[in-house]
Amino acid sequence: MTLSLSIQYDFSLRNHNTFGIDAKAHAYVKVDAPETLREVCRAEALAGLKRLVLGGGSNLLLTRDFPGLVLHMSSKGIHIVGEDANAVHVRAAAGENWHAFVQWTLMQGLGGLENLSLIPGSVGAAPIQNIGAYGAEIKDCFHELTAFDLVEGRTFTLDKAACKFGYRDSVFKNGLRDRAVILDVTFALPKQWQPNVQYADVAQELAARGIATPTACDISEAVIAIRTRKLPDPAVIGNAGSFFKNPIVSAQSRDELLRQYPQMASYGQPDGSFKLAAGWLIDQSGWKGKSLGAAGVYEKQALVLVNRGGASGREIADLAAAIQADVMARFGVMLEPEPVFI
Ligand SMILES: Cc1cc2nc3c(=O)[nH]c(=O)nc-3n(C[C@H](O)[C@H](O)[C@H](O)COP(=O)(O)OP(=O)(O)OC[C@H]3O[C@@H](n4cnc5c(N)ncnc54)[C@H](O)[C@@H]3O)c2cc1C
Repeated sequence: MTLSLSIQYDFSLRNHNTFGIDAKAHAYVKVDAPETLREVCRAEALAGLKRLVLGGGSNLLLTRDFPGLVLHMSSKGIHIVGEDANAVHVRAAAGENWHAFVQWTLMQGLGGLENLSLIPGSVGAAPIQNIGAYGAEIKDCFHELTAFDLVEGRTFTLDKAACKFGYRDSVFKNGLRDRAVILDVTFALPKQWQPNVQYADVAQELAARGIATPTACDISEAVIAIRTRKLPDPAVIGNAGSFFKNPIVSAQSRDELLRQYPQMASYGQPDGSFKLAAGWLIDQSGWKGKSLGAAGVYEKQALVLVNRGGASGREIADLAAAIQADVMARFGVMLEPEPVFI
């Protein structure tokens, strides 16, 4: 059959990752429909190539050129697709910008996603690490998704249980890794919306604005203001947001650490373990504001690694490894990176 795929070779990914790393993909295809993926699976020219699904590139560290095929999700569309007694169901295509989608739901008068305002990236990537911020995660409003199986060449649907969402985790980072391409995601947005202001920063921002009974839009605006103050804009300074997950330790380890560091904050988890603040551990290890070559630790937030200009992915990975080693030596805690290393 004639190949209608538009394949670009030796494609620069520099403008497609928020670290601004200058790496190339051997081959690159824009995906705006499942049919493109079927063609990719059939195309002899692409057989045997490793594949990388790309959204906004805001959770990737490109440590080298990618010797395979980049599938860049660019499908668009947002629709209300149904409702039940409790929720309105809204479906968005994988290539939609996450923040623009959240704003669209708010414009329709639908709350639920407001705490996740201004997270960069695409709708299709949101389930991969169950994106979360300010006391909310997408699993709280997730209904189902459609994905394409690159091995079997067919589409399938997964409900919330099948996605196995955890803290910055899902089945897509485990059993379905390198296999499922998310095509669209459907959210169940509550008809009886309740504000989620459990996170101290959000409560304080609302209080400072004199808002006692916030709407979903008020919370979105508060979150946008906090994030704009705290996080570097990738358009100005390359970064991928939090570079490390907050580590989870046993109650025993946390008690031992507290004896040495009584000022250390820790957050109890339902299973009796404790979450520590990775940013605090890095700060205490003396890394805040420091650099190794052109890779640096953001001055205002030690959890964010930045490209100070022209850094290679390797340099950023080396900085991350140096931080991990120091935090391990000082606290006996292994930090796990959040972005996907390529
Ligand atoms: C300034 C900044 C702040 C951030 N803040 C947060 C935050 O508060 N909370 C948070 O959770 N994250 C945060 N992030 C990380 C990032 O925004 C999210 O992880 C986001 O979901 C990544 O989306 P993306 O489209 O850019 O994914 P990409 O970086 O393109 O891809 C990330 C991973 O998902 C896979 N993937 C992408 N699209 C698909 C698809 N359609 N199907 C299958 N796999 C896919 C990729 O292969 C890769 O493994 C932040 C990043 C930045 C730069």
